[in-house]
Amino acid sequence: LTSRRPEPAPVRTTCGYCGVGCALDVVVREGEVAAVLPARDGPVNRGHACVKGRFAHGYLTSSERLTEPLVRRGGVLTRVGWDEALGVVASGLRAAVGQGAPDAVAAISSARATNEENYLVQKFVRTVIGTNNVDNCSRLCHAPSAAGLTASFGRAGGTDSFDDVEQADCLLVVGANPVEAHPVVGARLLQRALDGAVLVVADPRGVGLARHADVHLPNRPGTNVALFHGLAHVLVDEGLTDPGFLRDRAAGLDELTPLLAEYPPARVAAITGVPARDIVAAARYYGRAEHPAIVYGLGVTEHLHGTDGVRALANLPILRGAVGATGRGFGITPLRGQNNVQGASDMGALPDLLPGYGHVTDPAARARAEAVWGRPVPTTPGLRIPAMFDAARDGRLRALWIIGEDVCATDPDSTRVAEALDACPLVVVDELFAGETARHADVVLPVASWLEKDGTFVNFDRRFQRVRTAVGPPGGARTDFAVVHAVAAAMGADLGCRTPAAALAECGRLAPDFAGISHERLDREGALHWPCPSPDAPGEATLYAGTFATSDGRAHLAAPPYLPPGEEPDADYPLLLVTGRRWAHYNSGSMTRRGANLGLDPQGHLDLHPEDAARHGVRDGAPVVVDSRHGQARLTARVGGDLAPGQVFCAFHFPDEHVNSLTSGHADTATSCPEYKVTAVRLRPAQE
Ligand code: SF4
Repeated sequence: LTSRRPEPAPVRTTCGYCGVGCALDVVVREGEVAAVLPARDGPVNRGHACVKGRFAHGYLTSSERLTEPLVRRGGVLTRVGWDEALGVVASGLRAAVGQGAPDAVAAISSARATNEENYLVQKFVRTVIGTNNVDNCSRLCHAPSAAGLTASFGRAGGTDSFDDVEQADCLLVVGANPVEAHPVVGARLLQRALDGAVLVVADPRGVGLARHADVHLPNRPGTNVALFHGLAHVLVDEGLTDPGFLRDRAAGLDELTPLLAEYPPARVAAITGVPARDIVAAARYYGRAEHPAIVYGLGVTEHLHGTDGVRALANLPILRGAVGATGRGFGITPLRGQNNVQGASDMGALPDLLPGYGHVTDPAARARAEAVWGRPVPTTPGLRIPAMFDAARDGRLRALWIIGEDVCATDPDSTRVAEALDACPLVVVDELFAGETARHADVVLPVASWLEKDGTFVNFDRRFQRVRTAVGPPGGARTDFAVVHAVAAAMGADLGCRTPAAALAECGRLAPDFAGISHERLDREGALHWPCPSPDAPGEATLYAGTFATSDGRAHLAAPPYLPPGEEPDADYPLLLVTGRRWAHYNSGSMTRRGANLGLDPQGHLDLHPEDAARHGVRDGAPVVVDSRHGQARLTARVGGDLAPGQVFCAFHFPDEHVNSLTSGHADTATSCPEYKVTAVRLRPAQE
């Protein structure tokens, strides 16, 4: 008889790619990930997952993984031990503070990191360095959502649970291609449409859900505010608003009404390129539905007027009375891009906001944090990410710690980003691989990925879920949590909260919305929505029953005028470039390009209309050179009809193509979120 050792139970964790937050069961054999299976009881995914969550784990065992710290010696990144690397970081940070005061140091935390790591990073920056110069990559995607939704409703998150959206009889999907970027949500939305909900899609491209839409509104990039005002105009004009809700629970109608009069469908059609009859049809669908829901993506936020766009879109459920647990609709839900965009901001990795969104200029919010931390909190808001690069270029910033972001591949106008890093005396990068940014670093610290650490993420509908270690990190790589502790210790400081569970518990002591959430509770209950103010609170899936979280308890209508984007096509740059994501890859592609997913989608493309291809002498499948006012990229043409003539599209998953050298420095006037969605470009065939 032979005795078989029982297989270890799969490790339940939360996907580390997009913000949907799929629960995954990781099968581990002999210390390696053998399979990743979608959890049947996953609260968001219910037995589904996409090609990223399921198959993009080959990077774990890639021979290119960083396993030892690297320090630049004589211009070359050289392997050193942890003690030496930590010493270089600590002395560099001390020197920067000594020469330029605490504000000469900044950190970019990460939406890829856990909540607990983000909490620890901002605590380090505020209490050990003594500055508010900490930000995270939500700056580059959903900062306008946080600002806009807070101004409209009071909290920096979606108004409803995605489970509610599934009861909707009209889905308005705006500026998003969830079939590729958030595939499990895309599938659930499509199922809802197939089950009978009316589907309205507002997006320049005719891909994904747009192919199944009852009405598709392909508005010209950069014209969102006009489009949303046009829809609101029809709601008001045709009596499709909720007068009782507007009287009892809203504010701002007197300012909005005269503005909407300036946006009749005919004028909006001229601005957006969408036929007036389709604007009217979409507004009627939304206005006449029993339970309308809005889901939106980065096509709303990544604009010069992104926060205005969020606010103009948020006007629709307010006018309709379809928000605030009224039973008449399911509000508005932003599709967060990265796995933990919501959580990184919730944890206070922001230059103006503390954990739980208390403002650094608010004495009461500072006092709550100081009581827990035992250290003063700086009173001046810190630098946002784009301002950090500006400060590095002009010498004000002398040390920058970048945690898990390949900013030279993913941030806009990447040539200038690289110049900024080169000008900064100390650049420290926590990374899995030596990517574009590491080329400009003085110290590179090898760290663990989402399958190699413990903690929590918050998904797109405000759900905390557990992240659990499936396998150990390779070689000497450490978790970001351990690295932040070690850097603090090297500077003679003790951040306390030695474990991720202790860090989340500490965060709950100064952020009442998270006070009832703990690792122990999540292990027992699976997921919890915030706000969850006490250990016996169930967590609020649907917000604003009875009152909104604004200062007067009302939902606030906004009246921003439509203003044009930062760049318009002209004779020199006649095409508009929109960037986005594709189904098999994720952001810079550092993980998804190292494994099975590369075979599914091996190279980037520039999508363009047949008319533009003919006009520029470009063949399908041929290499093209794309120029903008900011840089140049080389891509492969993919000729098709999903875009209007004059518009081109590409993803940014392949750093060798340098797509973000094309994108501009234009950014949302309220939040500095870059205008990735509108860049004027020209193209020509490349030498084959
Ligand atoms: Fe789910 Fe998004 Fe992960 Fe795909 S990438 S498995 S949709 S969380």
